[in-house]
Amino acid sequence: MPMFGPIRPAVYRVKLGGFEVTTILDGAVQLDGPAGTYGVNQPEADVKKFAADHLLPENKIENTFTPVIINTGREVVLLDTGNGAPRRPDAGKLAATLDIAGLKNDQIDIVAITHFHGDHIGGLMESGIPTFPKARYVVGQAEYDFWTNKDRLSGPTEANAKLVQTNVVPLAEKMTFIKPGDDVVTGITSLDVSGHTPGMLAFNIESQGKRLVVTADTVNHYVMSLERPEWHVRFDMDKEKGVETRKRILDMLATDKVPFSGYHMPFPSIGYIERAGDGFRWIAHTYQLRV
Ligand SMILES: [Zn+2]
Repeated sequence: MPMFGPIRPAVYRVKLGGFEVTTILDGAVQLDGPAGTYGVNQPEADVKKFAADHLLPENKIENTFTPVIINTGREVVLLDTGNGAPRRPDAGKLAATLDIAGLKNDQIDIVAITHFHGDHIGGLMESGIPTFPKARYVVGQAEYDFWTNKDRLSGPTEANAKLVQTNVVPLAEKMTFIKPGDDVVTGITSLDVSGHTPGMLAFNIESQGKRLVVTADTVNHYVMSLERPEWHVRFDMDKEKGVETRKRILDMLATDKVPFSGYHMPFPSIGYIERAGDGFRWIAHTYQLRV
């Protein structure tokens, strides 16, 4: 037999009350790290040792991207859009993967965005054409105001602000601008998780007494972000506020014992948070939402 190469699942679906929650793997990239990305305020040797102690490579990390689709029965809501096919060779597969989930691009009614980093807005448009032709959009007002301020078009924010100009701004007339606490639709309510970006939103999903929190980028590594939430993360624009928000959300998830989906958690990206020592531990979802 010829070798086929590695294979991994890319679609996962659970029921949540009267809703269906589908997670889709947009792709995965392998990067240098964890030192330089996680624990940037720690000695490099400590970060490497921490990785090795947790049976992780010392010099490589993988980052995965997981948009979430909620079918409420009334509308199909997509939370974040992945990288977009042209942007990354091994990611940007959301649109191409939808049919495995039984969905077509024109069946997405609403696209809600947690924050405007490229791996979340990259899939809004492909080659200047909206990927989800019948969708309307829901975005945070604070996030939109931050990234569309012309001061962002130079300095460290330049590349991402330009992507906002090509992928987000052209869709503005179909957008609803919300603040933390506002609903996307009944059963999907936004929460303030600013820090990683100035206006990042999480979403509390609730149906018939069942609850799941979509945490966006508050926790980006299933070991490091949880066991060492105080470690600074390169991707957090405000590092200290990132820490504060991460601890607050982890504490809420551990206290409420509710499942969550984190955009960069290991696919299928649904799990629970357990307290462990001074930090927390990731418990992957198995059958909790199936019985
Ligand atoms: Zn991200």
